[in-house]
Amino acid sequence: METTTDWMEDGICRNLNPDTFFPSDGVGVEVAKRICATCPVVNTCLEFALENRIDHGVWGGTSERQRRRILKARGVRIPIYSL
Ligand code: SF4
Repeated sequence: METTTDWMEDGICRNLNPDTFFPSDGVGVEVAKRICATCPVVNTCLEFALENRIDHGVWGGTSERQRRRILKARGVRIPIYSL
């Protein structure tokens, strides 16, 4: 039976250092985003992060700021503490 996280098995990041996807600066964000751009589950990863309101790290090729913008564009209310 497939679970909502089975797609993670196909993520490129599965065999990389997790710290790469929790960068501390903009250069690190761009490095992670370039890796995500070649990942076969990038769209699923992004939707998972959006649905679960994950506000740290690069998921699905997006930064925290980009995911907040997507949620806002979709009309999703974002808790004030995560702005
Ligand atoms: S899109 Fe990026 S963060 Fe998501 S599974 Fe792929 S490599 Fe990992």
